[in-house]
Amino acid sequence: MAKQFDVLNPATEDVIAQVPDTGKDEWLAALGRAVEAQRAWAEFSPRGRAEVLRAVYEKITARTDEFARTMTKEMGKPLAEAKGEVAYGAEYFRWFAEEAVRIPGRLGRAPAGNGDIAVTRVPVGPVLAITPWNFPLAMATRKIAPAMAAGCPIVVKPAAETPLTMLLVADVIGEAVAEAGGPKDLVQILTTTDSAGLSETLMADERLRKITFTGSTAVGKILVKQSADNLLRTSMELGGNAPFVVCEDADLDLVVECAMQAKMRNGGEACIAANRFIVHESLAGEFTERLTQRMSEVTMGNGLDDGVTLGPMITAKQRDGIAELVDKAVAAGATVTTGGEVPEGKGYFYPATVLIDVPADAPILRQEIFGPVATVTTFADLNEGIAAANDTEFGLAAYGFSENVHTCHRLAEELKAGMVGINRGAISDAAAPFGGIKQSGFGREGGAEGIDEYLNVKYLAL
Ligand code: NAD
Repeated sequence: MAKQFDVLNPATEDVIAQVPDTGKDEWLAALGRAVEAQRAWAEFSPRGRAEVLRAVYEKITARTDEFARTMTKEMGKPLAEAKGEVAYGAEYFRWFAEEAVRIPGRLGRAPAGNGDIAVTRVPVGPVLAITPWNFPLAMATRKIAPAMAAGCPIVVKPAAETPLTMLLVADVIGEAVAEAGGPKDLVQILTTTDSAGLSETLMADERLRKITFTGSTAVGKILVKQSADNLLRTSMELGGNAPFVVCEDADLDLVVECAMQAKMRNGGEACIAANRFIVHESLAGEFTERLTQRMSEVTMGNGLDDGVTLGPMITAKQRDGIAELVDKAVAAGATVTTGGEVPEGKGYFYPATVLIDVPADAPILRQEIFGPVATVTTFADLNEGIAAANDTEFGLAAYGFSENVHTCHRLAEELKAGMVGINRGAISDAAAPFGGIKQSGFGREGGAEGIDEYLNVKYLAL
């Protein structure tokens, strides 16, 4: 029998499935089939492609419960959040179904009057997508949907921790494509424990024309270097270290609500999770008290159980990394106001935790936490608050809160990130361009911009 690997439930540590551990021959064969699929897909009109995407949206939505349960079992998030991700992940198919028929071009007279300049857009070619475990559906659909809409075949390598949701989505896409008479290998999923081998092999093959990656900055840099040999198009959605700046005149009721959203969505295992709460000193005491209260009310447990609002972390390694960041901060002088202790028993759990008096050089303020831990630091003057917010190598998301329109404008202008939420704790939207600057990478997913990542500009001199 072909090689397989285990998939675990992080809440129970039980093996819940085994999936194929594919190797080099399978990867290269998949790329060959992708090339063929592009030819067949090119025969579809933009409207024809749009209708297939729309069908995928309908089919995922109709199977929300099955998708959500699979996701909770392999990833751990509470079922209600998993259902939220199904809606969000499916939305990329609806959005890009609508974009597939709006790929822009232009025609203009050449300045010298000796002809016309026509600009059109053509599919990049076969795409490799490598995705993380934190949003097993949405991190892939925001790549698959625009690739399909643009006319590109795509091979997806999901994280080894969470391949099941992706295998389910492949079934649904396969069904929709087949019903329309399209190529069955337009979207292929390759599960493997050898991620590095897969990316090296496929990126060395000149039939591949694009790599799109969501994951850590360290791996993103390796892939960008590897992409140089064949000068592949690249999109890199990497790590974050989001600041959450609370100004003197902010509305604390709103702030606390948004703080819980920005911190606790996905148990903090989100690249746009607020890592650093930077609060004006006049509000810091009350903010900490109210945040501590809300965090201590979080119910930790198996995501399939009713009432659970915080599931396990994905692996023991991830949980231990969070515990280490907290312990180092405490050793350096920080105080825990709630949480901070790894519970006994099965499952990779870490509790909702708040830390105050964190020294400016503590690693927890520098690195992505990727867990349910909030750090609170203070500022006296907004210049100082904004400088602290921007004092990070990352630039994915930032959040700012004020009731003064001039201060809001200033925060929007001066917070250095690809995405800024003003008086908002939840910013993700399939219709908006998601992506970062600095060590958070480049490229955008979603919005009108998302499809450009899969199109080459072609100029026709007429
Ligand atoms: P990771 O970089 O370890 O893994 C991501 C993917 O890359 C997985 O599929 C993994 O198997 C694969 N991979 C690992 N090493 C590889 C290698 N050498 N070559 C090729 N592929 C390799 O990241 P993770 O721990 O799974 O995910 C968490 C990270 O993802 C965080 O840093 C988070 O901020 C980031 N993330 C970013 C976004 C975004 O849109 N910017 C969204 C979600 C997560």
